[in-house]
Amino acid sequence: MSIETILVLNAGSSSIKFQLFKGEESVLSGQIDGLGANAWVKGKSAEGETLMDRALTAEEAQNHNTALQVILALVHQFDPNVEVDAIGHRVVHGGTQFTHPVLVTEEVEKELEAINNLAPLHNPHNLAGIAGAKAAFPGKPNVACFDTAFHRTQEFKNEAYAIPLKFYEEGVRRYGMHGQSFHFISEELHNVAPEIANGKIVVAHLGNGASMCAIENGKCVTTTMGFTPLDGLAMGTRCGLIDPGVVLYLIGEKGMSVEEVGHLLNKESGMKGLSGISQDMRDLENSDSPAAKKALEYYDNRVKRELGALVAVMGGIDALVFTGGIGENSSLTRAGVCEGLEFLGIEIDEEANKARAKDAITISKPSSRVKIMAIPTNEEGMIARQTRAICEA
Ligand code: AMP
Repeated sequence: MSIETILVLNAGSSSIKFQLFKGEESVLSGQIDGLGANAWVKGKSAEGETLMDRALTAEEAQNHNTALQVILALVHQFDPNVEVDAIGHRVVHGGTQFTHPVLVTEEVEKELEAINNLAPLHNPHNLAGIAGAKAAFPGKPNVACFDTAFHRTQEFKNEAYAIPLKFYEEGVRRYGMHGQSFHFISEELHNVAPEIANGKIVVAHLGNGASMCAIENGKCVTTTMGFTPLDGLAMGTRCGLIDPGVVLYLIGEKGMSVEEVGHLLNKESGMKGLSGISQDMRDLENSDSPAAKKALEYYDNRVKRELGALVAVMGGIDALVFTGGIGENSSLTRAGVCEGLEFLGIEIDEEANKARAKDAITISKPSSRVKIMAIPTNEEGMIARQTRAICEA
């Protein structure tokens, strides 16, 4: 089956992000936000022309199914003759069983429902997006692409927590996230730096959510996110790695409920909690406040600490790649992370590092043993690629 036009959907609790691909090229993108209250749709062409920017009617905003009809109308407004051949869905959690993208069948939907508890904030909405797409595009193939799948090559020693084994067996494992981004960067290296593409790579995906991955020969060795997206690096509003004793203290001594602790660690921590100013890196970089400076130092130090661990576990490093909103744009963060790592063969070039990564850039000195790069990620493009591969197989 030849697949030309693919719609990629990323359905969240109150939002649906979408991108339309013709071949490898993204031609239309946008999102619906605020489902449930004051829903709004925005859509623009690849050239940046705004095609839709309006509130949804109450009828359109009822649920994911009705909202998808708005996206469908936008796709037809963009190209009246368009035929969507397949729909690719971002699904956050694939549990232990989904190690690759999969064509959605009724059986797959049932299996996915059964693991909703592993990602209650995400997977049920991803499934609602699948149900909506089935209704909006009857008879067209839907493909589920999982954030966790790329990390299923981790060995037990990197995947398990040291708690009684029965928990590992029932699924309490280090799943990892951002798999589409890591997979994309790993493939992109074959285009932009083929000499190291099969080597030992550490990718730092630094965005609002953030994680790092050690990749050898295109396969994940290990990653910093764990059972949930709370683990690993400090993020915009998430705490990252924390002593579980702190959680026990908050519940046992401070009398906080599970919901309150969840909110604190997911929404009030990270850069926002440490700085007391903002979760946005740009605000912190532009602030003169000592608290912002401390938060930024903390951030870089966490990345550095995880980098050391990933390099040790992988037994070396040939390239360090920054990606995500912060990794692609913040020369301050990249410089801060690399500072003092000459002993590892990491030497950043101050001048080259000033650039933003609109395309892949190399920011290491010619003398640096480790190649340092910043590469724009393309998670939706990766989903489109995987969707095509599954449908054409
Ligand atoms: P993402 O989740 O990948 O979209 O990344 C969002 C993060 O990227 C936010 O913390 C932004 O502050 C950060 N970001 C975007 N542009 C810049 C920039 N020019 N300098 C520093 N941080 C940036």
